[in-house]
Amino acid sequence: MSKIYDVIVLGAGPSGLTAGLYAGRSRLSTLIIEKGQDGGQIAITNEIENYPGQQLEGESGPSLIARMTEQAKKFGAERVSDVIKSVELTGDVKKLVGNKGEYLAKTVIIATGAFPRPIGCKNEAQYVGKGISFCATCDAAFFEDFEVYVVGGGDAAVEEAMYLTKFARKVTIIHRRDELRAAKSIQEKAFANPKLHFMWDTVVDEVGGDEILSKMVVKNTKTGELTTIEADEDDGMFGLFGFIGLLPNSHLFEGVIDMENGYIKTDDNMHTNIPGVYAAGDIRVKSLRQVVTAAADGAIAAMQAEHYIANLK
Ligand code: NAP
Repeated sequence: MSKIYDVIVLGAGPSGLTAGLYAGRSRLSTLIIEKGQDGGQIAITNEIENYPGQQLEGESGPSLIARMTEQAKKFGAERVSDVIKSVELTGDVKKLVGNKGEYLAKTVIIATGAFPRPIGCKNEAQYVGKGISFCATCDAAFFEDFEVYVVGGGDAAVEEAMYLTKFARKVTIIHRRDELRAAKSIQEKAFANPKLHFMWDTVVDEVGGDEILSKMVVKNTKTGELTTIEADEDDGMFGLFGFIGLLPNSHLFEGVIDMENGYIKTDDNMHTNIPGVYAAGDIRVKSLRQVVTAAADGAIAAMQAEHYIANLK
């Protein structure tokens, strides 16, 4: 029979790792299950400027998350790498079934986060990894001295576009409206960056090229006019990065847990509609998806799990 953990945390982003840290520190037997690399969104974010106390020169998403992982480990949270395929959450003992086996716990903290929304243009899937990317930290170096386009107008698009200017010859933000959604402080830096250009009221309609991305058709959202953009002949390719928001990693819980637009509904204490099951971080219905709010959710969820377990005894 599998071990029954006090807490299983699903997902090792900032919310999951913080939940693991708080649960471990409360002497609860804790297992963190992650299907890929630690960090979630933050692992593919280059610059972290607004996490309180973050003043380290050169701090990046991966370096911050590496310290969070170490800290959770230090307090005894166990780790397994597995993909969970199904869940049974309603009983006193919750069961998660993965590719490598099944995992049992008295409480579950869902911290599965969100993933990048596809750009939504024709032929997109064909060029992902062949010119299209959703991670500047991972792929910027491939575009050293090439032209790069970034789709989106939020914090992520503008910050990642600025990061890309350190590598690319020219970076153009393609935004569907004529003003950015990004925070004003981020916008000011962007407008002052001479390598950064803007294509307003525009969406990408279609991408193409021989094996690698070398042309695209963009559409003016006001006039409907279509324009073809081709790679410089000497380059033979360009980069296209998508940062147009996130989609929740919640399909596992459809029909099981109450949701709104695919995000899990919780109360202020991270309780879902199922006793002993909590949600934390980007997967929740919430107003601000940031590392600091994810970490706070994780801490609250872990402490609520502790209270729940104490009342079971
Ligand atoms: P976001 O704030 O939701 O912005 C998404 C952007 O993509 C918007 O400009 C939106 O246009 C555009 N967009 C959405 N769907 C589109 C579509 N189908 N086609 C073309 N454009 C589309 O997403 P985000 O920038 O990824 O940020 C996600 C969360 O992380 C936010 O809460 C953000 O504050 C946070 N974040 C914060 C920081 C930071 O504080 N430094 C950095 C990165 C991310 P419209 O403006 O027209 O809606």
